[in-house]
Amino acid sequence: MNKNKYYQSKFEYYRTINTCMIIAISILSIGYYLSDCYLFGRFELTTLIPRFSILLPFTIFMILNHKTNSFRIMVPMSYFVAHCVMWCTIWACYFLDDLRFACVGFIIINFIFLVLGIAAPLKLAFIAHGLLFLDISIAEPFIHYPDFAMMFLLGIPLYMGIFIFDVIIEKTYRDQMDMKLKLEDHLRHDVLTGAYNRNIISSLTDEKHLFKNTANTPIAIAIYDLDKFKLINDTYGHTAGDDVLIGVTNAVRSILHPNELLIRWGGEEFVVIMKESYGNFIEHADAFRKAVENTKFAVGKVTISVGVAVYDGGDYQKTIQNADTALYEAKNNGRNQVVMYND
Ligand code: GH3
Ligand code: MG
Ligand code: MG
Repeated sequence: MNKNKYYQSKFEYYRTINTCMIIAISILSIGYYLSDCYLFGRFELTTLIPRFSILLPFTIFMILNHKTNSFRIMVPMSYFVAHCVMWCTIWACYFLDDLRFACVGFIIINFIFLVLGIAAPLKLAFIAHGLLFLDISIAEPFIHYPDFAMMFLLGIPLYMGIFIFDVIIEKTYRDQMDMKLKLEDHLRHDVLTGAYNRNIISSLTDEKHLFKNTANTPIAIAIYDLDKFKLINDTYGHTAGDDVLIGVTNAVRSILHPNELLIRWGGEEFVVIMKESYGNFIEHADAFRKAVENTKFAVGKVTISVGVAVYDGGDYQKTIQNADTALYEAKNNGRNQVVMYND
């Protein structure tokens, strides 16, 4: 499955967690101001700007979050805000004399990256999280952490553990998505013939219009129905009848262009949506009628009757009704033929 599609879907699924985490860490970053005041023993203004400056990247994040759905923008943006939290903290620490709690703060920030990793592509999570160690290494000459070595000694195993967690999330979501795609596929396809079933229509139509962007592409609907199929069932049994349905579907499909859709409309009645005919809709419909007629079946010769109606851009259900009228005429005219609807 396409990687981008997978990561987009994963992001969308876990997006709420991601957004909530960004809100939480921005509050956390500002909230640390209270711990500064505790360390200073008074309300001290020096760390006020570093602590509140997270509001700028947070606001950009929230605006983008409102405007786009793309994981390619929102995942890096989430990590950007998280690193900004880290740098706001480093900036505030620069003014603090007592850095005993920096190591604890660093461990807490690692957990923030754990949550962000849930919605992110694995590789990106690994790199973006790893950059935390670069942040503290750059900051070290300026603020001299009292527990700098411990920040690495505790942080790296935690980072590894979080990476394993991210791998498990990635795998779990992949399984879940495979299952979802399989279910969607089953919902759209007829189990016996493999043709689409009626559920596909809802994804092709917009209100009452067939296809959302048909523009100038001429479309016609063909409805075909097996001739004297009841007789085949009655003579050879239902299982043999099922085999005929499969064989007819394969014969018709062998003629259709990949752009054209074959839908099992019900029982032994099928709809073909011909998007671009090769030359002529009637000739095209006649080609698949002939393909069925020329197929060798265990039960002998099998034929279909076909009704065709050109879609005029209005209510597509009217076109289906018109094709059905033409099919009725084909049956009345002696079967095994194509009839074009004319009003
Ligand atoms: P006509 O040429 O007028 O269409 O005659 P017909 O016998 O094909 O038409 P009719 O509608 O009387 O019969 C359709 C039969 O299709 C009846 C039904 O049992 C059978 N049928 C519908 N779905 C299936 C299926 O999934 N498998 C099998 N084996 N038979 C099916
Ligand atoms: Mg029939
Ligand atoms: Mg029928």
